[in-house]
Order: sequence, then structure tokens, then C-alpha cells
Amino acid sequence: MRPIRVLALGIVLLSLGLLPFPRYVLFPGLSGLDYVADSTWMEASAGPPARLIEELEWAEAKVAEWWGEVPDRPRILVCGSYDCDGALKGPGPYAQAYGRHLLIVHARLGLESPQLRRAILAHELSHTLVASRVSLLDLWRGRMPAWLNEGLAVLASGDPRFDLTPAYCASLDTEDLPAGYKAWGRLAGTTDRPIYQAAACRARIWLKTNSISDI
Ligand SMILES: [Zn+2]
Repeated sequence: MRPIRVLALGIVLLSLGLLPFPRYVLFPGLSGLDYVADSTWMEASAGPPARLIEELEWAEAKVAEWWGEVPDRPRILVCGSYDCDGALKGPGPYAQAYGRHLLIVHARLGLESPQLRRAILAHELSHTLVASRVSLLDLWRGRMPAWLNEGLAVLASGDPRFDLTPAYCASLDTEDLPAGYKAWGRLAGTTDRPIYQAAACRARIWLKTNSISDI
């Protein structure tokens, strides 16, 4: 290899070593996370590995039951500290799926009830599964609106926080739900409006004339 290429490669590797996000994602074992299961790393402070594995397997089974397909496990990184959260763009949401290949779980999820922990994992794995069927380009082109992706994730996960009774759903008929993912992300982080419930109610209506097998 010519010296200039060696130098360029060295700079790239050095940058990866210094930039927290790619360092954690590419080298979790060198970033303080332990390998605890297939494709899964977690910080020791995030709780007992056996608990995570049991909840993860529950979530995978739940998503498989809903979607009719076992999701491929993405690379899963589970934080237990603010340092880890900060490096991985947290702690905003409890967890964040990045396409079909990466799922980050933030430390604050570990403080929640077992029911919510399982539901959040299932919610994110539902997004992972959608990402395996609908390309990022198609998502961007609007083939699957954000409200539908989120609504199906709520239904697939059985999230215990949400009231989805017909009477409550009827009261959410007029909620304005973004189709675009950026707009959804902005709204989700700033509003008290029940947009996840409304999305799940609307996804249920969508399912009366559509099938998830067509996604
Ligand atoms: Zn979501």
C-alpha cells in the first residue's frame, strides 16, 4: 500500500476511534459493553444480562406473532450509563432503531417496569422488521407513512401505556399525524398530544382494508 493510502487509512481509523458514535457501534467491546448474546452488547450497569435476554426473546416472539416473520436480530447496544447514552445520541427516546441493522437501548429504559421494557423492545423490533421489507429510499419516498410505521409498532408491541378502546380512538379521529419521518421525530419529541395512540387507532382502520403481508 502506498504511504499516502496508509496515512489516509490511519486517519479514518483514528477518527473512528475518537468519534464516540462509530466507536461504540463498531467496537462495543472496546467501549465498555459486554457481549451477552447473539449480536447483543450491554453495559454491566444496565442490569442483569439474563433479564435483558429474556425480555428480548419475548419481544422477538411478539413481533414474529404480529408480522408472521421472525425478525433478524440487529446489532443491539444497551446502555446503563450517561456516558454511553451521550455517545449514542441519548437519552431522548427509550430506544432507537436505525434501519434494520442497529438498535440502541438507553439507560432510562432499564428503570421502567418489565411490561414497558418488553413493549419498547418489541416496538423497535417492529421498526427493524419494516426496515427489512421497505428500503430507506422507499420510506423517504413515502411508500409507508411515519404514522403507519409507528401505529403498527404500537399494535405489534402491546404497549401497556396506551388506551386503544374504540371510544378513546373515536376521540382521536381529528389528530393531525405526520407522514414524514423527520416531522414525526420532531413532533414526538416536543408534543404532549397522544400521537402514538392516534397512529395505532388509524393503523387499525388501515388494517381493515390492507394486509401487513403486503408491506
Ligand atoms: Zn417508533
